[in-house]
Amino acid sequence: MNKPLKQHLIDPEICIRCYTCEMTCPLEAITHDDNNVVVDAEKCNFCMDCIPVCPTGSIDEWRIVTTPYSLDEQFGWEDLPEQKDLGDSGGEVEALDDTIEALLAEAHKGAGGRSRAPASAAKPTVNLYNLGKPATARVQGTYRLTSEESGAEVRHIILDFGNQSLPVLEGQSIGITPPGVDAKGKPHLPRLYSVSSPRDGERPHYNNLSLTVKREDGGVCSTYLCDLKMGDEVKVTGPFGATFLMPDDPSARLLMICTGTGSAPFRAFTMRRQRVAAGASGDMVMFFGARTPDSLPYFGPLNKVPERLLKKHLVFSRIPGVAKEYVQDRMMVEQEVIAEMLADPATHIYICGLKGMEQGVEQSFKNIAESTGMPWEATRDVMRDEGRYHVETY
Ligand code: NAP
Repeated sequence: MNKPLKQHLIDPEICIRCYTCEMTCPLEAITHDDNNVVVDAEKCNFCMDCIPVCPTGSIDEWRIVTTPYSLDEQFGWEDLPEQKDLGDSGGEVEALDDTIEALLAEAHKGAGGRSRAPASAAKPTVNLYNLGKPATARVQGTYRLTSEESGAEVRHIILDFGNQSLPVLEGQSIGITPPGVDAKGKPHLPRLYSVSSPRDGERPHYNNLSLTVKREDGGVCSTYLCDLKMGDEVKVTGPFGATFLMPDDPSARLLMICTGTGSAPFRAFTMRRQRVAAGASGDMVMFFGARTPDSLPYFGPLNKVPERLLKKHLVFSRIPGVAKEYVQDRMMVEQEVIAEMLADPATHIYICGLKGMEQGVEQSFKNIAESTGMPWEATRDVMRDEGRYHVETY
């Protein structure tokens, strides 16, 4: 038997093809083809730089092998192979496991970690269209959601898929490939956008979906998307994401925390409940941070959603003459509500938006949980294992 090696792998079912790991790896050990993002066992030196940057935890897969899986094998996978039984290795395998576990424990110090789907979530379809075989959508509508004065342009873009089947669940993302090439002359990689409409379409029973896109200064894909006109064709990959999903159980309680366009999946969650479970016993509570009311996507429609369906805490950071407030600050103000939800096994937590919010939100959860004698890290890890704790930040 060759000396065993703990091979670093990526779960193709859960990976959302954001390519952040590939861009982060200092050794260029991570690469992709039209289908999958994979790790080259010959180059990976277990530096773990890619672990905390992965928004889904799909990067955190390991198999002890005597012959590493080749790149070609990994490119062909739809899901990961099971760990093979390597028999008695005289303690070598166990020692190897301990070494990697110690490195991983350090990399996992943040709030991130391997995510699981809610137990009652519907089974998502993933990776139906890839770079080599994208779907073609047509722009059916494009509307500015934020005021001219706010300075931020966020658009609601509706894509129609005609007779192509692109089934999505609330919380899933699709990839949009901007035309043209990057600075190195290579075709642009797709950028990911959360679908902001529910599974039965932006308009019920139409084969369409919506995206919530903010124009970023110098942003290749956001500029492309925000400049699109009605009828334009768009290349789409996906759908992606198998864990940041909504429970189908109407008694599940949803605690949703977002900033800016990170609200996209929560629009989909809310519309899903409105359409199929408006009288659900599980409540929905949202903490949503934006600079000002006129830069908060869907401010008007959101305010029309009844409080009995969705309890809204809209939080603003740049209202002149008013103290800056972030979502994590409002969570502390509403700590009794949150403490009660944390203690309830029906509660599912979703955090989506700016990477920078993660630490502050985590700290507020810790303060709130621990003030009621609940150990936060242990509570969070149980919730994550049960598919009740989800983070998607970029
Ligand atoms: P933004 O307008 O830059 O910020 C929204 C709010 O978050 C502002 O009030 C901002 O306050 C506040 N904020 C800044 N730092 C914070 C922190 N450390 N903790 C808590 N709040 C903080 O947001 P955006 O440009 O829309 O960005 C949203 C993010 O969501 C992006 O990173 C995007 O990639 C991600 N996302 C988007 C989608 C999608 O489908 N479009 C899906 C998932 C995630 P100040 O600026 O006043 O400090």
